[in-house]
Amino acid sequence: MPRTAYVNGRYVPHGHAQVGIEDRGYQFADGVYDVVPVVKGAFIDEDWHWERLERGLAELRIDQPVNRKTLSMIAHRIAQRNMIENGIVYVQVTRGEAPRDHKFPTKPVPPALVVTGRHLTMPDDFSQARMIDVITGPDLRWARPDIKSISLLPNVLAKQAAAEAGAYESWLVNANNEITEGSSANAWIVHRDPESGRVILRTHQSDQAILKGIVRTALVALAEKHQWAIEEQPFTVEELMSADEAFQSSSGNMIRPVRTVDGRTIGSGEPGPVVQEILNAFADYVSAQSG
Ligand code: PLP
Repeated sequence: MPRTAYVNGRYVPHGHAQVGIEDRGYQFADGVYDVVPVVKGAFIDEDWHWERLERGLAELRIDQPVNRKTLSMIAHRIAQRNMIENGIVYVQVTRGEAPRDHKFPTKPVPPALVVTGRHLTMPDDFSQARMIDVITGPDLRWARPDIKSISLLPNVLAKQAAAEAGAYESWLVNANNEITEGSSANAWIVHRDPESGRVILRTHQSDQAILKGIVRTALVALAEKHQWAIEEQPFTVEELMSADEAFQSSSGNMIRPVRTVDGRTIGSGEPGPVVQEILNAFADYVSAQSG
């Protein structure tokens, strides 16, 4: 079936979709994006994705190309036209096309909107997740990764380093030897409070140093419901290595338990009991939206 893309007001064959060579996204990475997961034809946590996109646009002072209702309509139409049962819808907004000049165009230009869809193979049951191997590497990104900017070169290099090491993901380490997040996912550990023995989930606080992932937000809400203890604060590489369990969260891959970090096995090397409980709860959470 031929793929369809949406580009600046038109639905066009994916292979013929084009933006101008002076689009500021192409020349300056001057734009933002979002990725909405589609499960059994349903968009998961759709509004949270639009909220994040709108926030990023406001931070960069890029106008919204269309209002939220219209964007949602376009995204659903792309999912339908591409017959996406399971997959993602990708939305990108740039400051538009203008003669190359670092500062914002003096004559206002409309922001450019591109929406595409892609099929992904997803598990029938989200409680059954494949484990991943992770490497660590320096967090070389700019100081505002909370904005989902299309400027992803450090993330690209980190992911490539993981692939070349035979791993799936790179977890990024800041100047304090703490993990901020993965190159395309939020990073979590499970550990026990040494005094009380209580099981605690830990992930970096949602400040300017990380992207506030939508799956992360869903897990924080589920934690409240299930009374899991969460510490929103960084963990060091040493704390990661001695954690009972570790996992990552993202819309593209949902929840993935970590088997090894830099070749060292985390916990038992199998999905631990806490991660399994989280996977079960998250599978129910997705089913409640997708049927
Ligand atoms: N952190 C980074 C750097 C990401 O690129 C992503 C997703 O692409 C995430 C975290 C997870 O965000 P979400 O759960 O919204 O997919």
